[in-house]
Amino acid sequence: MKTIYLDNNATTRVAPEVVEEMLPYFSERYGNPSSMHSFGGQVGKEIRAAREKLAGLLGARPEEIIYTSCGTESDNTAIRAALAANPGRRQVVTTRVEHPAVKSLCEHLVKEGYRVTFVPVDRSGRLDVDYLYEHMTEDTAIVSVMWANNETGVLFPVEQIARAAKERGIAFHTDAVQAVGKIPIDLSAGAIDMLSLSGHKLHGPKGIGALYVRKGTKFSPFLIGGHQESGRRGGTENTAAIIGLGRAAEFVSDHMEEENTRVKALRDRLESALLSRVTHAVVNGDPENRLPNTSNIAFEFVEGESILLMMDGHGICASSGSACTSGSLEPSHVLRAMGVPYTAAHGSIRFSLSLYNTEEEIDYVVEHLPPIIERLRQMSPFWQHACEKTA
Ligand code: PLP
Repeated sequence: MKTIYLDNNATTRVAPEVVEEMLPYFSERYGNPSSMHSFGGQVGKEIRAAREKLAGLLGARPEEIIYTSCGTESDNTAIRAALAANPGRRQVVTTRVEHPAVKSLCEHLVKEGYRVTFVPVDRSGRLDVDYLYEHMTEDTAIVSVMWANNETGVLFPVEQIARAAKERGIAFHTDAVQAVGKIPIDLSAGAIDMLSLSGHKLHGPKGIGALYVRKGTKFSPFLIGGHQESGRRGGTENTAAIIGLGRAAEFVSDHMEEENTRVKALRDRLESALLSRVTHAVVNGDPENRLPNTSNIAFEFVEGESILLMMDGHGICASSGSACTSGSLEPSHVLRAMGVPYTAAHGSIRFSLSLYNTEEEIDYVVEHLPPIIERLRQMSPFWQHACEKTA
């Protein structure tokens, strides 16, 4: 059975061009980039070239890039660095819909005695920017707002918020793990101090991330060890993955236009076909202002997990808007923050496309998914109840 992969916000296929570029670093080019000999030094030079490629994608300077192990480490590093740089300030401002890489850290910070403000969103997932501005105070060490939401794809006005934070002398960080590679980003002229990204979300390998730190931003390392990354992140470099991330940055940059035209058109084709064939189906999140590859659809009165299982039987991969915790299906914190009703949140499915998807694949999903929803609804007591009420 063919796999139809529509779960690219979870992880992406490593582009074959990226794999090819990485392979020599597992075999003949195994030198340590910090070594004095030229065998290792040559790898050091190649890492510098990769850093330039990644910086190019962001409109950053190469020395503003710090390699990490993943997006989660980048997020933790940024927030901890800002707190360490401003020990007198005890407040963090973030949103209610961040990825756990920021959300769980912030919840942990509360236990450590920090004050965290979680800014709400509206029914479309749009951020309450006025609320955020009202809660930036002289006690705020850092504002951390994601660029694009991983579940709904909704984009936040991070450049505008970063300028407002700068005017008040507050550091600004954005978790751009889902945005980098999908929408154009130019950090050169803006006010964003720190930005997190992750290799495996942009057709690079897993186990590599990066943190952009604007020149002049107060910073202290999270991982203390050797002098790697100019003393800002200890640990021998993951050379193959760094080379891969550099090539991936070039790859997504070359395909940015296609992402925002062909991939977006495929997403819209999928979405409009499903909405026209399935009753009681609605899009979660601002349909205008979101990533080109993401569609989050609530199929009311069915369980998302059952939809996923039945789609899996047809080789279709996607994600649901609920997580099975302690035996009960909890709707995601993102959909709850948006106020999506229980019966819709439970049946929410995230489809996230990539450059590798085709029209045939989308049509296959459109053919197989509506009967799945129909069958599940026939078995759903919620659906029976809803039908009786409207009858
Ligand atoms: N931030 C966002 C918005 C994400 O979507 C993810 C991964 O899903 C992460 C952070 C964590 O990235 P990583 O898996 O590289 O730790």
